[in-house]
Amino acid sequence: MQEYARSVVEAVIARDPGEPEFHQAVGEVFEAVTPVLETYPEYRESRILERLVEPERVIMFRVPWVDDRGDIQVNRGFRVQMNSAIGPYKGGLRFHPSVNLSTMKFLAFEQTFKNALTTLPMGGAKGGSDFQTRGRSDAEVMRFCQSFMTELYRHIGPHTDVPAGDIGVGGREIGYLFGQYKRLKNEFTGVLTGKGLGWGGSLVRPEATGYGVAYFLTEMLATRGDSLSGKTIAISGYGNVGTYFVEKAVELGAKVVSLGDEFGCVFDPDGISGEKLAYMADLWTVYRKSAKEYADKFGCEWRPGTKPWRSVKCDIAVPTAMQNEIDADDARALVANGCRVVCEAANMPCTPEAVRVFQEAGLLYAPGKAANAGGVATSGLEMSQNSMRLSWTREEVDRRLRQIMQSIHRACLEAAERFGSPGDYAVGANIAGFLKVADAMMDQGVV
Ligand code: GLU
Repeated sequence: MQEYARSVVEAVIARDPGEPEFHQAVGEVFEAVTPVLETYPEYRESRILERLVEPERVIMFRVPWVDDRGDIQVNRGFRVQMNSAIGPYKGGLRFHPSVNLSTMKFLAFEQTFKNALTTLPMGGAKGGSDFQTRGRSDAEVMRFCQSFMTELYRHIGPHTDVPAGDIGVGGREIGYLFGQYKRLKNEFTGVLTGKGLGWGGSLVRPEATGYGVAYFLTEMLATRGDSLSGKTIAISGYGNVGTYFVEKAVELGAKVVSLGDEFGCVFDPDGISGEKLAYMADLWTVYRKSAKEYADKFGCEWRPGTKPWRSVKCDIAVPTAMQNEIDADDARALVANGCRVVCEAANMPCTPEAVRVFQEAGLLYAPGKAANAGGVATSGLEMSQNSMRLSWTREEVDRRLRQIMQSIHRACLEAAERFGSPGDYAVGANIAGFLKVADAMMDQGVV
């Protein structure tokens, strides 16, 4: 890593030692932009790296609520407003026990560059809570969301900060959050994305992250004269991203043979499609059950306590769950099992060591900030429709999503080529995102 970048990473670690995920995300981006910093000393003179790692604003708050037994529960809420150089803050809300300041800052940092890649005017943010929706009734989730929004509402707005969903936050939670915001502000505005279709949501937003990953993967394979047709794919999480990725991948001729959760993984050699895909889609959103139920229902093998990466033979791995779900040993197992392509549908699911294993083995590897940007891009399209007070057709939104994914793919390859790492999507995505944000910051002075 270049001297200046290294000194900023070291300062970040010294200043906030308890934030390993944030250090990891900063280290990856700054390593990748090293050639840019060498070519253009003005970024150093303007202290762009020091400014990028300091969130514009961090909001942390108490979220008290009453559970169904009448007991008082207290969770912690967050919104990290990282960077607004190119547009209002934008990024999801995550409700999961692993949420803390480090995960929020890493996700907001990644979001800043991801959003820049979408070609749409959106800054970067992330928020959420250590609240666990699993095992909670609808009424409890509603009370939690109302309490969460009762603090958050004063910090967001359609021109300020527009949250959306992420892990643990889907259509149900967005509904409760939106209802409370509207009640508190007495305003019906596009303050959240991922809304229901009858009240300001966009067609294709639920499908967008998964479809976008499939479109990006299609572009990657095309650079090798190949396609998704006939490919065997392993995935992990079976939430919104995993489900719609499978739907599109199957439509494009691929076979998806695994899914998993924290308890283990399912191996389905015949591939998930038809009735099985419909069940998978409902597994969490309707039944709120473990992936094991899928194995039981369809007579597939359930491998407790393991991840699909260790034992499933596949051509392509698409991690769809959580940060750092693929470590170096998982990566070596994937390579040994014949995997040739890794496309991140989750945010930072591969450790830096895992990425090194893939790159040394000559795999095609795409980082989440490029490959999974279709979700937030379609959130951007939802914002545009809300501002115009009209709705585009499914075909129109899907066409725009596909174009955006193609343009992100092109931008990654062009930036990688221009700065001496042809074909390296990680370098290309980080540089293309960085240049857009850094140049906007330079234009706007010291703010
Ligand atoms: N949580 C999604 C992401 O990681 C979507 C964010 C949004 O739509 O604002 O990009």
